[in-house]
Amino acid sequence: MDERTRRRHERLKVAERIAERLNARDAEDKDARRVAALVARPELLGARERGTGGYLRRTITARRTSGERLTLYFHGRSRTLRVKVESCEPAREQRPLLLDEIRHYSGLIASCEGCARFYVKTDQRMTFCSKTCAARRRQRRHRARSPEALAAAAATWARLEAAKAR
Ligand SMILES: [Zn+2]
Repeated sequence: MDERTRRRHERLKVAERIAERLNARDAEDKDARRVAALVARPELLGARERGTGGYLRRTITARRTSGERLTLYFHGRSRTLRVKVESCEPAREQRPLLLDEIRHYSGLIASCEGCARFYVKTDQRMTFCSKTCAARRRQRRHRARSPEALAAAAATWARLEAAKAR
């Protein structure tokens, strides 16, 4: 394994750990719970911003001693956590926040479209945490859309029931 690949793996491992921490929803871990709470459909989060056609979204903001203001938000379309960095008057003190870690993984930690679990989005096209989740959704969508699929599912059920009765 070359140096670049090794570093990438290392990065993904750390991102994985952050995702796990968010998934744990540990009662003691208020910082993580606060971050996890950002994930909700933006339209459910509050009033629609008048005139802009956009939605108000919840964010977590922290001013740092480095003179940076970090804003963490959930990007709805990609379903990822992102951090925006701006300069500001340096804060006098700071306590460590999960935000500081997520900053280095902006856009990499995503929430699954199916089950809402956090996972590491190693490819930008990923929208599900796992193959199982994607398959489940595909199946459901397929059934919902096609009457043939529904009929086939019903026939399978009938066959199973008949086999059981025999
Ligand atoms: Zn999932």
